[in-house]
Amino acid sequence: MKTTVKSLEGMRLNLFIDGRFVEPTSGRYLDSFDPTTAEAWYQFAEADANDVRLAVEAAQKAFVNPAWRRMTQTDRGKLVRKLADLVLANADDLALIETRDNGKLIKEMRAQMRSIPDSYTYFAGMADKLQGDTIPVNKLDQLNFNMREPIGVVGMITPWNSPLMMLTGTLAPCLAIGNTIVIKPSEHATASTLALAELIMEAGFPAGVVNVVSGTGAVTGDALTRQKGIAKYVFTGSTDTGRKIAANAATNLAQCQMELGGKSPHVIFSDVDIEKAVNGVVSGVFAAAGQTCVAGSRCFVEASVYDRFIEALVERTNHITVGHPLEDKTDIGPLALSAQLTKVESYVASGVKEGARIASGGKRPQAEELARGWYFEPTVMIDAKNDMSFMRDELFGPVVGVMPFSSEEDMIELANDTRYGLASGIWTQNIDRAMRFANRIDAGTVWINTYRSAAYMSANGGFKESGYGRRGGFDVMREFSRAKNVVIDY
Ligand code: NAD
Repeated sequence: MKTTVKSLEGMRLNLFIDGRFVEPTSGRYLDSFDPTTAEAWYQFAEADANDVRLAVEAAQKAFVNPAWRRMTQTDRGKLVRKLADLVLANADDLALIETRDNGKLIKEMRAQMRSIPDSYTYFAGMADKLQGDTIPVNKLDQLNFNMREPIGVVGMITPWNSPLMMLTGTLAPCLAIGNTIVIKPSEHATASTLALAELIMEAGFPAGVVNVVSGTGAVTGDALTRQKGIAKYVFTGSTDTGRKIAANAATNLAQCQMELGGKSPHVIFSDVDIEKAVNGVVSGVFAAAGQTCVAGSRCFVEASVYDRFIEALVERTNHITVGHPLEDKTDIGPLALSAQLTKVESYVASGVKEGARIASGGKRPQAEELARGWYFEPTVMIDAKNDMSFMRDELFGPVVGVMPFSSEEDMIELANDTRYGLASGIWTQNIDRAMRFANRIDAGTVWINTYRSAAYMSANGGFKESGYGRRGGFDVMREFSRAKNVVIDY
């Protein structure tokens, strides 16, 4: 891989279409900003509708190209494994690029880059396991069976918070199955996806199998979701954007898989080790400065331990180190966008007006060396109510609202009182109670005595306005393939 964090400085990145890096027809390039300094550090091309059309046509052509279409499953699997090896060999550079782009901790990005190759290897194994089925029908002299085949061109629109990790969960199985892909990375973290395109070429995928069109959501994303010739969109991002994409996709009757926002509940019962639960809540909501879709940002605590829990949570939060993402001692880096910082500040202020109290944090850190970046202190808001605006909307920042509950029935009502349904967590030693929660909570993931523990081997996704469709595990094989029914008379 030629691209490194150093070589990117001041560079202009082009689009990746049909196996080549090409300039955008619009000639437009936009700045990408470093969240620790608020300064631009490279430029990326903005693809317009014409570039998007060319990318989709290249993917359509690649889909029927015998070099891809007639490649054996075993060979396709080998190519995906080769990509896994290349990602591993370049893991450090990819991690540095993402940290510089989105401000997430280098230690977290390194851990992600080292797990991504395992994920490619896992999905590579699906290449030769896409099986159809034989159907017993009432005509004894007929053979009726379903073949499974790739669905065609898949459009992938990704967010900035974990660009390559989010991409891998769908790119890897799509490649293994034999689809072709057009990716639109976030305008706030473009470089790592284009660096991956170099590795895709190096691995030897035929031209056009993967294409990357960078640009803003309003221009490039919108054009991609209006473009004909796409079988399915994979979208990871906010619920509001998801709605727009689904509406555009409907015009062409394209399918969608939606991984959207969340406002996940975290429930603490009095029978647990409070320290352990506090650690779970802290890592569940403050990781990546709260910029994770599954952040457990609504915390419900059994009334009998409410005061004790808050004391321990505040004590723990006060010891969190906010700092530069490249430093080892840092627990929380900056927010990725200046707009995010303004949003978080305004929700904290409205929470106070609505009656919540700030027990820790609540402002930008005072340290001079952090003054230029988009930093915000980890914040605990107590005496929160479920109807306060910061408890209803996704902030995507390091803020947790805490409130007491007095009965299991009240707790489940509170936990489900949200338009989202992505994740949930419960801390209790009582397995019956934990299972009642798992049964009644409207969330795609339930964590019991743990939080944010995800695996690419298990299917996950949202309920309600957190989205639909499943990633991970064998479910993806059906998501990205289609059944064709064949009947033979004999
Ligand atoms: P976003 O919705 O602003 O942007 C996501 C992507 O959509 C970007 O590539 C953007 O350019 C594109 N986009 C924006 N407007 C578009 C439009 N009109 N048409 C087509 N594309 C458009 O989200 P974000 O700020 O990048 O990411 C944060 C959000 O993502 C949060 O809501 C978070 O919960 C969610 N998220 C969800 C998951 C999950 O797995 N459920 C994972 C990560 C992030």
